[in-house]
Amino acid sequence: MSNLDRQAALSVCGGRGFVVAEPVRELLSPRRVQLGESTEVRRLLPNLGRRMVGAWAFVDHYGPDDIADEPGMQVPPHPHMGLQTVSWLHDGEVLHRDSTGSLATIRPRELGLMTSGRAISHSEESPKPHARFLHGAQLWVALPDAHRDVEPQFQHHTELPTVTAPGLTATVILGALDGAASPGTTYTPIVGADLALAGGTETSLPLDPDFEYAVLAMSGESHVDGVPVLPGSMLYLGCGRSELPLRAESDAGLLLLGGEPFDEEIVMWWNFIGRSNEEIAQARSAWLDGSRFGEVKGYDGVPLPAPELPATRLKPRGRVR
Ligand code: MN
Repeated sequence: MSNLDRQAALSVCGGRGFVVAEPVRELLSPRRVQLGESTEVRRLLPNLGRRMVGAWAFVDHYGPDDIADEPGMQVPPHPHMGLQTVSWLHDGEVLHRDSTGSLATIRPRELGLMTSGRAISHSEESPKPHARFLHGAQLWVALPDAHRDVEPQFQHHTELPTVTAPGLTATVILGALDGAASPGTTYTPIVGADLALAGGTETSLPLDPDFEYAVLAMSGESHVDGVPVLPGSMLYLGCGRSELPLRAESDAGLLLLGGEPFDEEIVMWWNFIGRSNEEIAQARSAWLDGSRFGEVKGYDGVPLPAPELPATRLKPRGRVR
């Protein structure tokens, strides 16, 4: 998905200055953002006062939306730089096309993982016909400096490892959880896992104390470390935990996101993650003049234009907000 916000704001983030070195319970409220004409998303990252969780730099939660008589998701071709996108669905499907020639339909609990490297462009749309409900999350992972020029690539993994306990099925999206590792390529120590809890379950998950974590609630009624987390909200948990207590009042779906605190400053604007104002401005120009991001074939519509750059320079300001 794209950041379609026409007043795309600059986000300077990264660095350990943002990291809480001990367990915390910080509830993050979503910001409602309109994507195109038909989709409203709830944006959890970047959030006021919390820009990243590990290398996770962008988290949108959308749906469940009844799109039986609607076009559903319609995101025209747009560019990305310096990041990976993760498409994760609980209901419906997303048809992905990109400038490397990929054409894939992502379905619930399948991993659509796009690594932009230096440059890629893609489109995402609800296929015709499509399921009645669309419900999912769109996530970005910042690439570390040493790997942000890798070749653009798209992976579609339909089989992912799971970890189970009574009342819990955890599907490993990225990285590893309790010894089960996702086949998705990663560039920083990171984890993403889908947690399906049956109503009445009380359990706990093993965590890595060196990682920071957050949990996004997607559905149901659940308590994360004793805190009720409503669907569309995210609980930031900090570092220093070796386990995470979970309790589900009803059947519930959660996303666990974590990783080693991302120790680089980044500049995030529109659909780009870079390191300087100049780099972002060059990427914007390259998208407008068609010189770097390739071409998405087969999408019925025109590519997204880039918004204007903000009047103030985009610059990293050190390890503070
Ligand atoms: Mn996108």
